[in-house]
Amino acid sequence: INSQKPISLDSTKPEGHTRFVCISDTHSKHRNLIYDLPEGDVLLHCGDFTERGKLEEVQDFNDWLGEQKAFKHKIVIAGNHDLSFDLELMEDIRRCQREGSYRRFQFLDSIPEEITNNWTSVLNNCFYLQDAEVKVNGIRIYGTPWNPMFGGWAFNTCRGQPLLDKWNKIPGDGIDILMTHSPPAGQPDQVHPDGERVGCVELMNTVQLRVQPKYHVFGHIHESYGYNYDGAHRFINCTSVNLEMVPSNKPVIIDFPTPEGA
Ligand code: 5GP
Ligand code: MN
Ligand code: MN
Ligand code: MN
Repeated sequence: INSQKPISLDSTKPEGHTRFVCISDTHSKHRNLIYDLPEGDVLLHCGDFTERGKLEEVQDFNDWLGEQKAFKHKIVIAGNHDLSFDLELMEDIRRCQREGSYRRFQFLDSIPEEITNNWTSVLNNCFYLQDAEVKVNGIRIYGTPWNPMFGGWAFNTCRGQPLLDKWNKIPGDGIDILMTHSPPAGQPDQVHPDGERVGCVELMNTVQLRVQPKYHVFGHIHESYGYNYDGAHRFINCTSVNLEMVPSNKPVIIDFPTPEGA
């Protein structure tokens, strides 16, 4: 793991390329990143942009995105901490509120349903991808927030068939860059301190056998920031916070060849 050197932050973009700058897991600390973002064409954020998915957190993140003028495009997915983006979870929170029973994360019921049903009205300084794709400079990017069950947070899904059902929504006909919140098995996915690997096996099979993106970008496991190549696909865990929740990791650059005619 971490066998490939990332592109240094002060390198210049080669001609005919689109530069992606990848960050993740800023947990509402986007204004305290230790490293300034290098210039690029597209900013990618792989989820956990908030701590709890509160409206103020989303608004502040969106304001900050708007201040990143160097990027033509910004692409964002949610993670398990961006609770209010998970509509099934919000439905359950509202049900408990109506029934008068206590539920963890109940404070989120203060966010109006008109907003959670239409988050892109608030998060409007980016392309927000939730099981969806966008094309920039002819390059196809797909984003999805699902992650293996752990602690009952957003987009938590059981391993095995339930997660495979989510990954099966990813098109198999030429996605260039895949953004997920959580890692695939065996790539930068190792947790501290016992070194257990917690990436999803079904995601790895999906990436290596079916979708075969050039790059797979993710975060979620804060102690596994790093870069790796399996001979066919490049894997990047670009978490910005480390295990101590300090946003001290460098953004990771992808210089992607811009397709002819794009
Ligand atoms: P987050 O709460 O920001 O999603 O993840 C923070 C940390 O929780 C990770 O860096 C990792 O240490 C731990 N974590 C997240 N998901 C899992 C998991 O599926 N299994 C284990 N053992 N730890 C996890
Ligand atoms: Mn957490
Ligand atoms: Mn995180
Ligand atoms: Mn996470």
